Amino acid sequence: MFIEPVIGNNHPKEKKGHIEVICGSMFSGKTEELIRRLNRALIAKQKVEIFKPAIDTRYHDSNVVSHNENEIRSTPVQFADDIMLLAGDCDVIGIDEVQFFDKQIVQVANSLAKSGKRVILAGLDMDFEGKPFEPMPQLLATAEYVTKVHAICMKCGDLASYSFRLSDAKQKVVLGEKDSYEARCRKCFYEDKK
Ligand SMILES: [Zn+2]
Repeated sequence: MFIEPVIGNNHPKEKKGHIEVICGSMFSGKTEELIRRLNRALIAKQKVEIFKPAIDTRYHDSNVVSHNENEIRSTPVQFADDIMLLAGDCDVIGIDEVQFFDKQIVQVANSLAKSGKRVILAGLDMDFEGKPFEPMPQLLATAEYVTKVHAICMKCGDLASYSFRLSDAKQKVVLGEKDSYEARCRKCFYEDKK
């Protein structure tokens, strides 16, 4: 369990920002963990803004929705730079499916943290070929706190950190994940990889 650090309580006027990354494979509970952190900030009456890439319209247009239908209101945006314009005076910024943003997201996340905001990013760390999902490596490297969550391997029941694609599609992004992917451990992922 990730325990949030104490954030600037001793000096309320001096806001110290930072970046948290929640990463893992599909079905690992990344979005649920993001929602858990954001809800706790909301209960504390902090100003929270939530963004997701406009590409991810699997569920509901303006909600970050995870598979267990635990949901929270979010704004779909086209480009990472849009987040800079929309972040306003909020204390906490949550971004879901962060791997789908353009490279500029690294700059945006760091600028927001530098300006005193708590930035919480959730995203896939590897693509369906088991390669790092850009720009996640840059985000992981520049974050203060990294949490890797795991799914359960659908083949053997071990802990899973890979997203195995069941179809033969070769493009990097195939949405509609429940029918198209399985969470796999390393062994089961490479055994069946085409
Ligand atoms: Zn396995």
